[in-house]
Amino acid sequence: MKNYEIAVIPGDGIGPEVVDAALAVLGECEARYGLTVDYTFHDFSADLYRRTGRKITAADMDEIGTADAVLFGAMGLPDVRGPEGLELGAQVEMRAHYGLFSSLRPVRLFPGVESPVKAKNVDMLVIRETSEGMFAGLADQHEPSDESASDRMTITRATCERLFDVAFSQARARRKRGTPGHVTLLHKSNALRSNVLMERVFDEVAARNEDIGSAKFYIDAGAMYMVTDPERYDVVVTENIFGDIVSEIAAGLVGGLGVAPSADVSLTHGVFQPSHGSAPDIAGQGIANPTAMILSAAMMLEWLGERHGDDRCSQTAQGIQRAVESTLATGPRARDLGGTADTRDVVDAVISALPQSISHAAVAGS
Ligand code: NAD
Ligand code: MN
Repeated sequence: MKNYEIAVIPGDGIGPEVVDAALAVLGECEARYGLTVDYTFHDFSADLYRRTGRKITAADMDEIGTADAVLFGAMGLPDVRGPEGLELGAQVEMRAHYGLFSSLRPVRLFPGVESPVKAKNVDMLVIRETSEGMFAGLADQHEPSDESASDRMTITRATCERLFDVAFSQARARRKRGTPGHVTLLHKSNALRSNVLMERVFDEVAARNEDIGSAKFYIDAGAMYMVTDPERYDVVVTENIFGDIVSEIAAGLVGGLGVAPSADVSLTHGVFQPSHGSAPDIAGQGIANPTAMILSAAMMLEWLGERHGDDRCSQTAQGIQRAVESTLATGPRARDLGGTADTRDVVDAVISALPQSISHAAVAGS
């Protein structure tokens, strides 16, 4: 039985609170299902930078990257900024260092959660490209100026091909559990040269995946459909900044950031974190909704299960998902979902809703 090594980076604000919550659930899974996990903890945060000037380095990321996966809380504080005026947050460095080009952000309306829109059946996966697009110029030489500043959007064929391959294979995998099997590209090829190339590569990859339906919308209209007709979406794929925004609109449809997990993955590395940030407005009060982080930990187990052919991990992931679903349906409910529960109440409820056992006959003896 494989012993997994997980690097944990709690970060700032509610990051450490929701990471503790996810570790409590994982700890219970270890006890119940024979999962074996070793953790190494890495104390990087905007707060550490403010106190000591220390930030994550390439050597740190090399070391962290030897783990089987990274579990990441949230990083960044609005008033902690580097010399260029940008916030500190290791998530952006890690995406570049590990070549994490796709952020998978599943969004599903669970029973018991109210949506601000009329749609009943919101079940989509937003895939945000995370290595180029509008963030491509982050490492560019830059002359500080008070008069003008720019960023650039760069799209490459190589990243598009990998990204759209992921989108179509995710659509195929989702179809096995009842979704339509469909990919929508959101883009702005009417006005951005980079997006003309993105659209062209999308058409080529779509043509190689004829068993999966596809559609394309301009990002502006596509963003409106997110709100007026979200049921039309299954897998949605787009560039970096569009994906950042659209994935949070999508999260808003299903209860908000407190229930929105994510997985930043390449073909070799995975960083699993909630879609939300450090939420300084509620940090330190023990009231953050841990659901997004717990679901991100489940995505980590699902990813490990696929990579290592380990059914025990995949089934544990399903067990956690079911426990989260039943907690959302019955409560206790965190404040962002209209309830009064503290973080700990939600964690306790999820733990007590975990199945007593998972069957992993398929891996017995392996
Ligand atoms: P945020 O996601 O931290 O918070 C937005 C709103 O959602 C806040 O009202 C917050 O209270 C609420 N919220 C978020 N997560 C919640 C949870 N689990 N339970 C209950 N409510 C929750 O975004 P922000 O306020 O724009 O940014 C705060 C800081 O986080 C900034 O420094 C930003 O740069 C950083 N940030 C980090 C990441 C990351 O680590 N990947 C992502 C986004 C923002
Ligand atoms: Mn965001």
